[in-house]
Amino acid sequence: MKRFIKKIAVMTSGGDSPGMNAAIRAVVRSCAYYKLECAGIYRGYQGMIEGDIVPMSARDVHHIIQKGGTVLKSARSKEFRTVEGRKKAHEALKKFNIDALVVIGGDGSFTGGMIFSEEFDFPVIGIPGTIDNDIFGTDYTLGYDTALNTAVEVIDKIRDTASSHNRLFFVEVMGRDSGFIALNSGIGAGAEEILIPEEDMGLDRLLDSLEKSRRSGKSSSLVVVAEGDKTGSNVFDLANYVETNLPQYDVRVSVLGHMQRGGAPSCFDRVLASRMGVKAVELLIDGETNKMVGVQNNEIVAVDLENAVKEHHKISAEMLRISDIMSV
Ligand code: ATP
Repeated sequence: MKRFIKKIAVMTSGGDSPGMNAAIRAVVRSCAYYKLECAGIYRGYQGMIEGDIVPMSARDVHHIIQKGGTVLKSARSKEFRTVEGRKKAHEALKKFNIDALVVIGGDGSFTGGMIFSEEFDFPVIGIPGTIDNDIFGTDYTLGYDTALNTAVEVIDKIRDTASSHNRLFFVEVMGRDSGFIALNSGIGAGAEEILIPEEDMGLDRLLDSLEKSRRSGKSSSLVVVAEGDKTGSNVFDLANYVETNLPQYDVRVSVLGHMQRGGAPSCFDRVLASRMGVKAVELLIDGETNKMVGVQNNEIVAVDLENAVKEHHKISAEMLRISDIMSV
């Protein structure tokens, strides 16, 4: 039976990513367009439990499309992992007359949203907001494009130093379980090697390849390493190992860290967030629940939250092939 939705709440949960504000704005403005009430929940599920909820109108979200982070703040909530916590959260939503929820976050936030939706028969729609691009069912997550551009800009700068001093740089980028940022920023910045969690290159092959590069006349080299790469135990050990075995190289390490999560969203992320926010509200109006908004082949689609959470977004073999060819 189709529900009659009058008031939608939006929140951001898990790690922040550029484009979350643009998505909040899109949800709030779509509600205004369709004459629905809208509320913002601060600090993700923890704020939901505590009833940290405010009304939001179209004017409340002006001039946030260009901002990184999230104006609604984000948090991780242990209490929401318990039935008691989720009951409190449901009570708070009832108190504020909220009929449906849009969760902007990663797979943990979606899992929480799905459990909540099933327990209380409450409509929930997810928007993928994470720089890792590791969510199944969407070609891109919000913040990924911005993070890539940030990483490439910094790696370009490191390259200047690497070539001025004939050095070998290991640059660690984010991605504990996923190599999307490493692979794409590595290709974009012209890295000699790219190490990702999905493929264990092996130390011997890495040494061979670096030695080959040196012999072919390359005076400096750049290796982009995803945080979760398994070739070494961490980027510093990896650099030590290479320096010990290839003493002709002057090796340095640079860890990019949280700078990749911040900053103004790229135009791509702003537009994607706007499209996803509109779709999230329209899905709720159409009576849908437990769906994630995604983009596939540049079409906005709705994917079952269950699949988005259970399956993995795989690195394409074609990208690995391109990276191999480029490092010849
Ligand atoms: P990121 O990709 O940045 O890690 P995420 O959305 O995956 O983002 P998590 O910390 O995994 O971030 O999850 C965010 C919140 O979602 C948790 O703090 C918790 O409140 C809720 N959550 C996650 N998993 C569950 C679960 N199994 N049951 C209930 N709530 C959950």
